[in-house]
Amino acid sequence: MKAIRLIQPGQPLEMQEIPIPTIGPRDLLVRVKAAGICHSDAHYRAGTSQVDPLPLTLGHEVAGIVEEIGAGVTSFKRGDRVCLHYMVSCGHCLYCNQGNEQFCVSGKMIGKYTDGGYAEYISIPERSAFLLPDEISFEHGAIMMCSSATSLHALHKARLQPGESVAVFGVGGLGVSAIQLALACGAQQVFAVDIRDRKLELARSLHATPINASLSDPVKEIMRLTQNRGVDVALELVGQPLTMRQAVRSVGIMGRAALVGISADSFSVTPYHELINKEAQIIGISDHLAQELPRLLEWGRQGKLDLSGVVTKTVPLEAGVINAVLNQLEGFGDDVRVVINP
Ligand SMILES: [Zn+2]
Ligand SMILES: [Zn+2]
Repeated sequence: MKAIRLIQPGQPLEMQEIPIPTIGPRDLLVRVKAAGICHSDAHYRAGTSQVDPLPLTLGHEVAGIVEEIGAGVTSFKRGDRVCLHYMVSCGHCLYCNQGNEQFCVSGKMIGKYTDGGYAEYISIPERSAFLLPDEISFEHGAIMMCSSATSLHALHKARLQPGESVAVFGVGGLGVSAIQLALACGAQQVFAVDIRDRKLELARSLHATPINASLSDPVKEIMRLTQNRGVDVALELVGQPLTMRQAVRSVGIMGRAALVGISADSFSVTPYHELINKEAQIIGISDHLAQELPRLLEWGRQGKLDLSGVVTKTVPLEAGVINAVLNQLEGFGDDVRVVINP
């Protein structure tokens, strides 16, 4: 089969002819119908985030059709539409037992530690596959498995309650889902902070209140719009010290600031005014959980989560075009969401 693989970090991905994967008794062979090209893949190709072993087929946002099932598979049959949870966990270590399988001691992310979805077929354990409702396209199903799932995990960890208010910092791939999922969770008002007009317009069309951070201090604006109360939940999806600080400052009494964007840089917090006096919390967010995916797929089925504004393009399974998309992602951040149709 054809697979687009990372041979060496810092070099373009290459097409290789490799055998169709063999499957174990509890595995599925899935014919890939859609594989999202994620910003993380650009980091893997560049070598800023490590991939092992090499060569490896990238692609962790995958949806397709069950082509073959292992002898012990009970929940799927040939022809089922499925999407794949990217974290393949052991199911019995300390963290898996707690339901925190993103920290599984032997967890392996597909497209990073095992061959991923930039290929015609992928092998996956049965327990990592989820039925994809007919109402959701393969393209949307694929990207739901990364950015949408992580946004939902962030809202869960921030313990968003119906009637509460939310501020979303960054209207990229994660933000578009975060706005819709916050409303689906019953948020009474969602503020969307960004600096680009196109993204703010998209946020407005999704029923968020847009705030342009290049025109005014978004924290002051949030305070003004909430009669100085601040929001209950702030999600930081950008990964910049400035926006992390803004997210913390924008929460009110008992507020929760959830940090999703990745940065190795420090940011400052004024303990008394920003945390202690409000009993506010800062929460770190890492990946998402298999148990969160059914709810996500149900909201996708109902149209409460609509990713039409996110998937901008589809491309064939060809190294040249995929490398070009990764170049674009490196240049413009998360502006484009491209999905491969093998
Ligand atoms: Zn991703
Ligand atoms: Zn485990």
